[in-house]
Amino acid sequence: MGKKILFGSNLKMYKGVEETISYLQELQDLTKEMSRAEMELFIIPSYVTLERAVKAVDTKLIKIGAQNMCWEDAGQFTGEISPVMLKELGVSLVMIGHSERRHVFGETDVQENQKVLAALQHGFTTLLCIGETAEEKGYGISKEILRIQLKKGLHQVSRKHLDHLWIAYEPVWSIGVAGVPATVDYVREIHQAIKESLEELFGADGANIPVLYGGSVNADNANEMIVEPLVDGLFVGRSAWQADKFSVLLRAAKKAKERG
Ligand code: PEP
Repeated sequence: MGKKILFGSNLKMYKGVEETISYLQELQDLTKEMSRAEMELFIIPSYVTLERAVKAVDTKLIKIGAQNMCWEDAGQFTGEISPVMLKELGVSLVMIGHSERRHVFGETDVQENQKVLAALQHGFTTLLCIGETAEEKGYGISKEILRIQLKKGLHQVSRKHLDHLWIAYEPVWSIGVAGVPATVDYVREIHQAIKESLEELFGADGANIPVLYGGSVNADNANEMIVEPLVDGLFVGRSAWQADKFSVLLRAAKKAKERG
């Protein structure tokens, strides 16, 4: 059997508690017979839903993640949520460095690195998001930017933690309502560069770190993206927020990947 295919969604600041719970339960019902030995499914809802969310699903079927996390366990960090608090709730995954955290809230690679180190130390599956802006792409420096985001974001990560590390490549220009889908050729080229940077950092083990693609993934382009050998999963926004549509998308993508 090949590697597990990863499918997930970040619900951003869209669904409140009740809506999140019914979404999760519907998604679980629609996907429960799919083997989790072959795929992992994760959903990252808003903080305020987490306590209910982890109880509303079988977390072996749907992993529940947090959208952000402070690097400190406790202290004078008004408005922040610590790894210890997330652990207490039973959350198992933390997303770090989503493009909106970087570009709307001004987070830096150094901060993402502090968060990544803390998340791994606490045993979370740690999903580091990276991506270049349209301007950086225009200058032809996408690969350089991504290499920097990886080298800074993963600075001092120990090899013993690599089995908890996932990367999501999400070009900033491709994400969200104004996003333009990336071409498959572009995704192939960039995933190759990301894997090379990961090998540079961690040797052969680096190539085994899953790299998901995200950015305007939809039912029309999901299959051609996922069949790319270096695309290990899909991180889906808008096209995942209706459970029935996400279930159709991920089933088709999983079949396409298996066909190769
Ligand atoms: C995202 O914001 O991380 C994302 C992938 O969104 P969308 O699929 O809606 O472009």
